[in-house]
Amino acid sequence: MKVKVNKEKCIGCGSCVAIAPEIFELNEEGKSVVKKQPSKEEESKVKEAIELCPTKAIEIEE
Ligand code: SF4
Repeated sequence: MKVKVNKEKCIGCGSCVAIAPEIFELNEEGKSVVKKQPSKEEESKVKEAIELCPTKAIEIEE
């Protein structure tokens, strides 16, 4: 799984960071960025973050 955040859609709510702080962090603009691609074990957390993102800003690339 390769994940990315659509900066146009992200509103910086921080939900994904709360769910998966290993993967997501808020940048200086208050937008979520991917700091590390998830390992196999981390994929379920990322899926949860995707489901709970209010603007559907988190996308799977492949
Ligand atoms: Fe942005 Fe969605 Fe993460 Fe909220 S949950 S910070 S809107 S990517």
